[in-house]
Amino acid sequence: MTLDQKIDAAGELIGRVFADSVAPACVTCSFQTECMALVDLVIAQKPDIPVLFLETGYHFAETYAYRDQMTERLHLNLVNLASRQTVAEQESQFGILNQTAPDRCCGMRKVEPLFRGLDDYGVWFTALRREQSPTRANLQTVDNFRLPTGKQLLKVSPLADWTNADVWSYLKRRGLPVLPLYEQGYTSIGCAPCTTPPADPDNPRSGRWAGRKLECGIHIASD
Ligand code: SF4
Repeated sequence: MTLDQKIDAAGELIGRVFADSVAPACVTCSFQTECMALVDLVIAQKPDIPVLFLETGYHFAETYAYRDQMTERLHLNLVNLASRQTVAEQESQFGILNQTAPDRCCGMRKVEPLFRGLDDYGVWFTALRREQSPTRANLQTVDNFRLPTGKQLLKVSPLADWTNADVWSYLKRRGLPVLPLYEQGYTSIGCAPCTTPPADPDNPRSGRWAGRKLECGIHIASD
């Protein structure tokens, strides 16, 4: 499939979901390249859709600056999802969990705030792509996702079959800038303490958690 065909297919899927569902929709966004492509496609059809950002408190300064720049430029309805504890409170109670127990840290600063935030919605657009990781190889474009509360959401991944090259070509075509950290060799960008340039150039996510884990727990918690 050409990029034009993939763009058309993604746009048609997004339109179909909006037409078929009366449930409120949101899109999650980490402000990485694929997220910006997805957000651009989704806001073309629903400009005021809530754009959920996991405000872990541990992001790079560049990520916060880029988030604010793109929010202003695209007039995003940004919703920051924060943990129940500040970074200072968590570190004073538990120490530096991203060094000692990253799963627990991700649980407190990503998974719990996201699931709490998602409870307000019935449709969840994600920028997941099958190519990103072995854990995403079987990603369905449209899937059901059950929150711990039992609430069921429609999880929609319009870029599931997009390659990294597709994403970059799309952003270039649309004239959208990318997070400046990519210029420094980063290929997958999350919290600063857990992100380095990739150790394996063939595995863009190998710079996350120093290869100790592949996911923060959000996208493997579905049925
Ligand atoms: S990515 Fe690292 S700093 Fe961020 S929530 Fe997970 S363990 Fe904590």
